[in-house]
Amino acid sequence: MSMKNLSKELSKLKVFDNPKKSLEQYPTDPYIAANVLWEADMLGFVKGKRIVDLGAGTGILGIGALLLGASNVVFVEIDLSVVSILKSNIKKVDLEFELGNHSIIHSDVHKPGIFDRTFDLSILNPPFGTNDSGADIAFLELAFKLSGVVLSFHKTSTTNKIISVAKSKGFKVIRRNDFRYPLKNTMVQHTKNVEFIEVTCFLFKKS
Ligand code: SAH
Repeated sequence: MSMKNLSKELSKLKVFDNPKKSLEQYPTDPYIAANVLWEADMLGFVKGKRIVDLGAGTGILGIGALLLGASNVVFVEIDLSVVSILKSNIKKVDLEFELGNHSIIHSDVHKPGIFDRTFDLSILNPPFGTNDSGADIAFLELAFKLSGVVLSFHKTSTTNKIISVAKSKGFKVIRRNDFRYPLKNTMVQHTKNVEFIEVTCFLFKKS
């Protein structure tokens, strides 16, 4: 599948009905998701790999990985109402494309004992810690425990902190892409139609 087609398929997915600010429910833009997944696949980290999508939301990252030929994706999402959208998104894509194995864990990612194995790659667009300070770092540290390669979105302003956490866990940055990330007018407190935040997607590998 080409990057353009991947982006097109991902743009058909349903997004959050009623996004919750407390859980920082912002969907990844389909074009951005397709770009970073495509690049990770070109580097050999997606096709045929076992992947975990942490804070999967409506599933754009994990579904993108499955469309690129991941052999197994585990989606982890805490919010039951979002899990039902996630299920229907996966089902729709699975009917049209022959997807690899996939499963959903409805849980807090930090609940002990939910993972019975490790993965080749963790993908995450986690809460940025705007609402729950430290949520971004907690997700990232979990990803570093679960896999030797991590694809993770963060606020660009937190770059120094993110890189120092990665270093302390023995990971180095092998790719980074900066985006102006469209926050569509999904939450009531937004007044302008579209706002942007600066977001960086890092690809980390254990050194
Ligand atoms: N990965 C999706 C969603 C990003 S929004 C995408 O890229 O579009 C962040 C998601 O993390 C939300 O769906 C939110 O409900 C979920 N989340 C927040 N805290 C969580 C936690 N502790 N455990 C599991 N999921 C969580």
